[in-house]
Amino acid sequence: MVDTAAAPHVHGIGARGAHADCLHPEVETLPRERLEALQLERLRRSLANAWDHVPWQQQRLRRAGLVGPADLKSLADLQHLPFTVKSDLRENYPFGLFARPVAELARLHASSGTTGKPTVVGYTAEDLSNWADLVARSLYGAGARPGDVVHNAYGYGLFTGGLGAHDGAQRLGAPVVPVSGGSTERQVTLIMDFGARVLCSTPSYALAIAEVAEQQGVDLRRSRLRVGLFGAEPWSAAMRDEIEARIGLTAVDIYGLSEIMGPGVACECSARSGLHGWEDHFLFEVIDPETGAALPDGAAGELVITTLTKQALPMLRYRTRDITRVVRTPCACGRTHARILRVTGRNDDMLIVRGVNVYPSQIEAVLLGRPGIAPHYQLVLERHGALDSVSLEVEAQPGVPEADYPRLAADAAHHIKSLIGISTQLTVRAPGEIPRSQGKAVRVRDLRPKT
Ligand SMILES: [Zn+2]
Repeated sequence: MVDTAAAPHVHGIGARGAHADCLHPEVETLPRERLEALQLERLRRSLANAWDHVPWQQQRLRRAGLVGPADLKSLADLQHLPFTVKSDLRENYPFGLFARPVAELARLHASSGTTGKPTVVGYTAEDLSNWADLVARSLYGAGARPGDVVHNAYGYGLFTGGLGAHDGAQRLGAPVVPVSGGSTERQVTLIMDFGARVLCSTPSYALAIAEVAEQQGVDLRRSRLRVGLFGAEPWSAAMRDEIEARIGLTAVDIYGLSEIMGPGVACECSARSGLHGWEDHFLFEVIDPETGAALPDGAAGELVITTLTKQALPMLRYRTRDITRVVRTPCACGRTHARILRVTGRNDDMLIVRGVNVYPSQIEAVLLGRPGIAPHYQLVLERHGALDSVSLEVEAQPGVPEADYPRLAADAAHHIKSLIGISTQLTVRAPGEIPRSQGKAVRVRDLRPKT
């Protein structure tokens, strides 16, 4: 165990302890009682911001029995406040939850909704600065250093991934290549020619880049890439192994969501035993998704996040729909901030197939473990009569003879049945036949009638 109390709390490289190589050591190794005192102070301020400037917030906080922001005496009191959900943003479209007039904002982002209006989020200049700090902190914790060329293949635009990673790399002092997604051949050329040391993208797009490089006869393992920060979609440990083996870098999980900030809400450190959630800016809870009751550290449930410093869009108890666990025991790296165990599924990604709960990431993990099968797949759910049918198309690795496809299919279907508990109509396709993603992968098509 690392003695976090002995960690230095002053600025400067010389002050960084042997156990805590952090960009912001004085904050990242803050003893828990001081971290929680800081959280309470900031939570009160954030609650007052919502109360004073967002009528919708004050109304529902009053309904929940709060007399005023000063009513909040401890972090535990947060449990009595109502949750915020994604539809609250949609119903207050576009700016109803903002605590600042639009004219005072520095930037707006939006995420396209699957139905109806997009979710709009806003930032003041200070919000953007805090965001850049947290992404820089995340990049540093993952192993990036000032001066490293950062190849940023997250999509630029309304999506927070591209500009979020961009500003963080700049804040770190790392030259950033704002390549965005797409034109994969060119991505490979730029990675090689510019000597990129850090790759930022979705995990599925990282694999698409690896594949195109292999087709071009380029060995990315011989490139200067050493660190990859991958996020914006859930991915499995097996996918991590695959990316590391094919690109030759250390793959790190970065987490975030635009409703809270964007990428950099949490990120893995070199210990890679959970993602440090930056508790000086956010408060993390885990709840039972059915009852809403708060769960103790270590219990699996839905992650709920409260922003502590956001000026433009203070968020109280936002239900992320991500299923995970949070632990607050010390990390081997010396940081004291909570660790969010890798998000393996999203509540609304969960499929119920013939009464069995299935996450697409579980299927991915099984496929990645099967020799001869490439990590590209598409899952189609249909209903025939009363029964769900699952068809799964996967790809063979290049070089596997076609005569082996039926055997590979039977083997993979058997493992999915025994490990996950569902029967699948599994077909093995030739390499390249399954469409590749340029951003977030769409791997599941649920064609069952909505009930
Ligand atoms: Zn750590």
